[in-house]
Amino acid sequence: MKIPARLAVALLGAFGLAAPAVSQQLTNAQREAAVEFTLNNTWHVMLHEIGHLFVDQFQLPVLGKEEDAVDALATLIILEEDGLNAQTILADTIDGWLYAERERPTRGYTNSDFYGEHSLDIQRSFSLACLMVGSDFDAYTRHATRVGLPIDRQISCADDFELASRSWKQVLAPHKRVDAYGAKVEVEYLHHDREYEDIVHILKQSRILERAADWVTKTHVIVEPVLITAEHCGEVNAFFIPSDQHIMLCYEWAGHFYDMFVETIMPEREHFANMARLKREKMAR
Ligand SMILES: [Zn+2]
Repeated sequence: MKIPARLAVALLGAFGLAAPAVSQQLTNAQREAAVEFTLNNTWHVMLHEIGHLFVDQFQLPVLGKEEDAVDALATLIILEEDGLNAQTILADTIDGWLYAERERPTRGYTNSDFYGEHSLDIQRSFSLACLMVGSDFDAYTRHATRVGLPIDRQISCADDFELASRSWKQVLAPHKRVDAYGAKVEVEYLHHDREYEDIVHILKQSRILERAADWVTKTHVIVEPVLITAEHCGEVNAFFIPSDQHIMLCYEWAGHFYDMFVETIMPEREHFANMARLKREKMAR
């Protein structure tokens, strides 16, 4: 989300802010899966905010909704640079938006869902799946099918991918780093409430902010210095603040995705894994 200074509008503001479930009793494997899910969703949102940064610093043309455009950029970067991990990172991000949408029936739609800067969570999820399958049908059709994209749309997603990929490559080409580095990107993990200690630890240990900063400076020549912070901000959100050249990741954002995984996604994934195992055993008899 891109916001004017000090005018924070909630990206996911309708979500409740319960204490994170990090402290719940989990097996090591469950905890690792929850951390991976959290970091995968966080990586996509960091690249999304970097997209806003590029639009602002490079004065890029954006022909359509900026929020959709930077979502696409985040997805394209992951598809291009994360190799075999891209599949898991993007599948987790798809689930992040899908499960966010599932919480909607309890609060219903309001006009702001339609006039807001962002597309609906379910649309963001479909758009991501569309770019994935558009980039490589054979590799990603099962993900697109899983979220319910029909085959004819999966096929036409190749055009969506080509257009998004060509457009971003074209506007970013003059700003790619060839030799000299541009302005610096600093990283800080700021003060936090004790309830987010574990989330802070997860983020620090992963060095995800440092990775985002390195990625920007190694790949592009930015004009103005940038500060990337993780901090407690009282809402589930992430921002780019153009007046301060500041990308802000809220601890609440990471905590929310951790909770979402532990409380909803993990039980479902475990259930389906068990069903699949039982089916295999039955077939083998
Ligand atoms: Zn945004």
